[in-house]
Amino acid sequence: MSAERTVNFTDSFDLTLLVEKNSDATFKAAFQVLSSCVCLASPVFKAMLQGPFKEKNNEAIELPEDDSVALEWILQIAHLRFDTLPTFTKEHILKLAVTGDKYRCLTIFHPWMDQLRTLMYQGAADLATIDGAVFATWVFKDQNAFKRALESAILHSARSEHGLVVKNRTLHDDLLPVGVKDHIMAARRQLLEKIASICRDTRKSLLTYAICASSISNAMWKEECNCLILGAFSRAIHNKFINAEMTRWAKENTTVSGLATSAKEGLRRPPGLGRNDHSACWNRLNPRVAEVDKLLQSVQEYLKFGEEHFNGAKESNLR
Ligand SMILES: [Zn+2]
Repeated sequence: MSAERTVNFTDSFDLTLLVEKNSDATFKAAFQVLSSCVCLASPVFKAMLQGPFKEKNNEAIELPEDDSVALEWILQIAHLRFDTLPTFTKEHILKLAVTGDKYRCLTIFHPWMDQLRTLMYQGAADLATIDGAVFATWVFKDQNAFKRALESAILHSARSEHGLVVKNRTLHDDLLPVGVKDHIMAARRQLLEKIASICRDTRKSLLTYAICASSISNAMWKEECNCLILGAFSRAIHNKFINAEMTRWAKENTTVSGLATSAKEGLRRPPGLGRNDHSACWNRLNPRVAEVDKLLQSVQEYLKFGEEHFNGAKESNLR
């Protein structure tokens, strides 16, 4: 079996790991390792090498699915080769989490946890990699960064027939820990329904009574005011959302942040609005804007998910 490169971790190696199979059946890397180091670092390797399914007598073990880069970092640490370890960046986190989780060896990253936590917190709000952030913060048990990633997912996700979508990209199901996806979808639906309810109430009140605050007592003037405000509001929120049933939220390509932004825009006086000054009338809608803002803050209530998972390990933040 040939490999693109061979890395020797110790002169006294007794095992070769062939990692990451290419399409032409060669491997990206051949790692020459000491099996006792590998077993010490990972119970998965230990079971593989010492358990009933031992492959001890093989001179090489094939690991075709693994990421050779991430596994190399793990093996460097396992063989105390810290000098060749890279400085971890945001882009490394997901690889570390996936491979570290697979081999149940996340504890070996303990000395780097402060650094990794900082990187995870920075990356947690990045919508382009939100599923990776949810996964990494979950397996590394970083509750702070996890909450940040979860909040972003609740506020910015929509639904398609393929699943949860953020910024037109379907989130990778394998990266969402059990229960997280349902939690995001339930929180999203509830928040959307609450914003819709504020919109419905607002529209109903605009239809029911004149809100014009102008001192000029003129029926036409007041009618113009109401038409103006009701029209602007209806346009901003799209009337189709107003009467939507709960189940429709699930189908609509609507995000909590998107609907909240539209609602707030509809409640504020658009710039450059003709000569009649109805600013004071628009200001009467300010409490409604505050209601929407308060609702967005209430997303905190949904972030308690998985607390027992995070609180389960007091000694170490790792599994
Ligand atoms: Zn007015």
